[in-house]
Formats: sequence, structure tokens, C-alpha cells
Amino acid sequence: MPRGLHLAAARQGLLGIGFPESVGGEGGDLLDSIAVQEAMFEEGASSGLMAALFTSGIALPHLAASGDDDLIDRFVRPTLAGRLIGSLAVTEPGGGSDVASIRTTARRDGAHFVVNGTKTFITSGVRADFVTTAVRTGGPGHAGISLLVVEKGMPGFTVDRSLAKLGWHCSDTAELGYADVRVPVANLVGDEGSGFAQIAEQFVVERIALAVHAYGIAARSLALAASYTRERETFGKPLIANQVVRHRLVEMHRRVEVARSYTHAVAARHVAGESVVAEACLAKQTAIEASSYVCDEAVQLHGGMGYLRGTEVERHYRDARILPIGGGSTEVLTDLAARLLGYTP
Ligand SMILES: Cc1cc2nc3c(=O)[nH]c(=O)nc-3n(C[C@H](O)[C@H](O)[C@H](O)COP(=O)(O)OP(=O)(O)OC[C@H]3O[C@@H](n4cnc5c(N)ncnc54)[C@H](O)[C@@H]3O)c2cc1C
Repeated sequence: MPRGLHLAAARQGLLGIGFPESVGGEGGDLLDSIAVQEAMFEEGASSGLMAALFTSGIALPHLAASGDDDLIDRFVRPTLAGRLIGSLAVTEPGGGSDVASIRTTARRDGAHFVVNGTKTFITSGVRADFVTTAVRTGGPGHAGISLLVVEKGMPGFTVDRSLAKLGWHCSDTAELGYADVRVPVANLVGDEGSGFAQIAEQFVVERIALAVHAYGIAARSLALAASYTRERETFGKPLIANQVVRHRLVEMHRRVEVARSYTHAVAARHVAGESVVAEACLAKQTAIEASSYVCDEAVQLHGGMGYLRGTEVERHYRDARILPIGGGSTEVLTDLAARLLGYTP
């Protein structure tokens, strides 16, 4: 992913949508950023591209919400201007689902924190100029977690590996090492011990965004399948002339529509100030079920062509597989929803 693409996207005003103008954004809200994402997916943008280009969407919100002018000037403004790339590092080799158990430590030493640990699966981490990192500044459990901005070039901070993946090929994914990294206290985001709450709050938007990825690539795959079945002839007639093919396209359409409408409704409730933590989990799940089904059917309707590298539906099919895992896996989000909706013993 060329850095120039971040600059170009910023110049078009795309990176700043959904961030207030007071922090260098373009204004607007979640519904506006959804409109941009949908338009890009409609034109064939991959889920990997959107994850890489818009990593700012998960790296910055905590900094922007902190109201800390120094952090906003050093990281938020230049990132929204396309000059810096940021990542969010929560997941560790020991596990990603149980955020409250992270082991990366940050020990206070005068005007610095000394950070030790490892993070893995970090989107854009290979290219990142700074990483909003979840660290343990206190005791066990969620109350001991803080967010700290660790910068490229700080002694002891290393990109240990660039991880190869099934899909999302244009989006780099890093394993990051922290060995006695001295990070100024000024890089603490919000209050010490508030990291878990900040992460949980921003996860709502990340899950809605991943729902948009899911139905976005599903809608695009459906459009490609519809067009292919009009062109491709078997047994002397276009594929779409078979009722079974048309019904399949309608079923794909139905699932995309349901996912899009529900996600829009949840996003609108979030923008209106309602707490939609459980509903964001349900939206992600609904959209992922749609993308798993639709992207698979789109490959099937393309026959052998659908299995070939270079056929667009093949790329969406591979990209779709990350969506039930990243940003909270289906199992973990279902359990969270069960608690929030009162389905407990
Ligand atoms: C391409 C990619 C990009 C990513 N980007 C980022 C990023 O930018 N920043 C970041 O911090 N993380 C990132 N992640 C990490 C991602 O959020 C985690 O992979 C995810 O949260 C799952 O954690 P895990 O992989 O450790 O799986 P585990 O937590 O080990 O879980 C393994 C499996 O067990 C299931 N499971 C776990 N606990 C339970 C339970 N109690 N009951 C039932 N089932 C359970 C899970 O659902 C999963 O299916 C990324 C991952 C990938 C692959």
C-alpha cells in the first residue's frame, strides 16, 4: 500500500470524515463514513484496502476523544492529513479475545513508562509511525489497562514480523516487540486505568464498520455474479435464463439488503446517542452471515473462473473469511450480546 494513497485520500477529504473539524477532521458522523465506505466497495475496493487505508479509524478515535491537544496535534491531525499512519495494538500472542488479560506491561519510571511485551496481528503495524497500544499499568483485570502511544524509532520498539495471510493481502499485519521502550507520560491517552473502557467504547464503531465491509463486499460480489450470469452461456442460453440461478441471485440480494438495513438502523441509533453495544454485535454477525453466503455463491456462479486468482470474486471470498474473526470473533461477540440482552443463568 503506497503511502501516497493516504495523502491522496486525505486530499479528497476521505480520511477525515467522521472526525470533528476541531481535531483536523472533515466533520460528519458515522453515517457519512458508512456512505463513503459503501461507495468505495461498490466500485470494487477490497476489504483489505479499506482496512489498510482507514486504520486511522481504529488508531485515532481514543486520541481524538481524549481532548488532549498535544496528542491531537502530534498524531490525529497529521494522520487525517495523510502524513502519518497509525495502528491500534490490543491483541497479543497469548490471546486476542480476552482483552482484560493482556500482559504487555508499562511500569512508571519518572516522566516515562517502560513498556515490555509483544503484540500480534496488528493491522498496518509494519508501516505505522505510531501505535496506540493497550498496556497494563496496574493490577490484573480490566481496571489495570491503559492506552499509550508508542512511536516508531523509540529504542526497543521493533516490527518483528510481517505476517502472511489468506486474504487482505494489501493490508500489512505485524508482530510488534516492546523491550524496555521508554515512552513519555505525555503519550498516555486519557486517564491511567481507563484503557479498557476506551477500547470497549470504540469497538462499537469498529464492529459497525466491519459489518459495512461484510455487506459491502457481498453487494459487490452479487453485482459481479449478476453480470457474469447474464454473459455466460451454457446449454445454449445465458445462465441467468435458468430459474434456479435467478432465485439464487435473489436470495443473495435479500441477505445483503437485510444486513445493510439493519446495520444502517444500528448506526443511526448510535449517532443519536443510544447505547448499541449488543446491536453492533448483531449487525456484525448478520452482515458476516450475508458475506459468507454471498461471496461463496458468487464464486460458485462463476464456475472455474471464480476459483482463479485475478477474478474479483475470488479476492472477496478470501477477504470475507477474516470478518468473523477480527474486531471481536463471532463467538465472543455472541457471548457479549447474551450478557447484555439478559440471556444469562
Ligand atoms: C488480519 C488480522 C488483522 C487484525 N488486526 C488487528 C489490529 O489491528 N489490532 C488488534 O489489536 N488485533 C487485530 N487482530 C486480532 C483479532 O482481533 C483477533 O485475532 C481476534 O480478536 C481473536 O483473537 P485470537 O486470534 O487470539 O483468538 P483466540 O482468542 O485465541 O480465540 C480462538 C477461537 O476461540 C474462540 N473463543 C475464544 N474464547 C471463547 C469462549 N470463551 N467461548 C467460545 N469460543 C471462544 C474464538 O472466537 C476463536 O474462534 C487482527 C487479526 C487478523 C487475523
